Amino acid sequence: MKTPRPASRRSFLETISLSAAAVSLAWRGRAQAAPAPRKLGLALVGLGGYATGQLAPALKLTQEVALRGVVTGSFPKGQQWAQAFGFPEKNIYSYDTMARLADNPEIDIVYVVTPNALHPGHVIAAAKAGKHVITEKPMATNVADCDAMLAACRANKVKLSVGYRLQFEPNFHELKRLARDRDFGPLMKMSGGLSFTMTKPQWRAERKLAGGGPLMDLGIYALQAACMAAGGEAPIAITALERPKSRPEFFKDVEETIDWTMEFANGAKGDFSTSYNGGLDRFRAEGEKGWIEFAPAFQYGGLKVTTSRGPLGLVVPPSQQAGQIDDFAQCVRAGRESPVSGVMGRRDMVIIEAIYRSAAEGGKRIVVT
Ligand code: NAD
Repeated sequence: MKTPRPASRRSFLETISLSAAAVSLAWRGRAQAAPAPRKLGLALVGLGGYATGQLAPALKLTQEVALRGVVTGSFPKGQQWAQAFGFPEKNIYSYDTMARLADNPEIDIVYVVTPNALHPGHVIAAAKAGKHVITEKPMATNVADCDAMLAACRANKVKLSVGYRLQFEPNFHELKRLARDRDFGPLMKMSGGLSFTMTKPQWRAERKLAGGGPLMDLGIYALQAACMAAGGEAPIAITALERPKSRPEFFKDVEETIDWTMEFANGAKGDFSTSYNGGLDRFRAEGEKGWIEFAPAFQYGGLKVTTSRGPLGLVVPPSQQAGQIDDFAQCVRAGRESPVSGVMGRRDMVIIEAIYRSAAEGGKRIVVT
């Protein structure tokens, strides 16, 4: 049986809207009126594994941002996203029509989630369309491209940020606090890395699209953690060696495994490894008075963190990415730089280039400039 509509419902809704209109009229024109800020509109560029598996659920949780568009090579895929997120089909763009974003005031932020070597083109297109940009890590595949991206964002007066989700994760906040407050003394000895065994052929094993091998994709997490443990400092020197490949036919033009050491100005040192042939996921930093260890260290959730004082046991939010995206929206609103800005992305690319250079020169110590 159909539930009867309560007789009073219509008048209740009418009353509410009449009151709302009255309030709105009463406030119109007053300088101190402060309407709730609308969520900023975001368009995702690239609807692959990370966008679908992680960013889509995050964008259902964001407080400051709503997904209002996509840039994709597949219009039918775009239609599915439009339906799931309730945005109009006019907000579905192709990679070739990104310039038209300039005419769409519903989109404030563009989030680039394509293969690494495509980030520069997509970021520059978004900046030219006047949109603030988040780009996935690594920011690009070389420092020159990072410079071009930074210049385009500066010229178009838009903010640029890199998708460094772990910078917003409570356990990594604690690492940064320990580095700052020196509870364990300066963190002088670090180690760890990230690896997985790649079995399926994909762009990540192609230099043209990935820019390199596991260092670009996975090693960058350990590199980021090391800079956090060093109080936000970049290393002053690098030594690195590539290991012989166990599957040279699979990893034709990228490394399979690479080990490197980072030296910091205060004498701190970190030994790290990354590979597409292994199962490493760990980060450790030690000072004279204690240590902190993450294992697993770099996942989307479920990090296990222990210190010399015992398990950390912090409560973490449901989505690292939601916090990361909301933080960028706040930066855009406040007109300030993101704590994970393009400048940080470029810093990391300088370090990555030094690691590759050292490995290419047989482990020569490279001073990072
Ligand atoms: P993916 O291969 O699953 O998706 C890539 C998307 O780019 C696809 O939709 C594909 O159609 C599109 N694309 C556009 N032009 C392309 C081209 N010429 N060749 C291939 N694909 C093309 O990759 P992914 O795992 O989603 O990774 C995308 C980016 O996100 C990478 O830069 C990666 O490093 C980054 N990522 C970040 C995290 C993180 O935790 N921050 C995790 C995974 C991936």
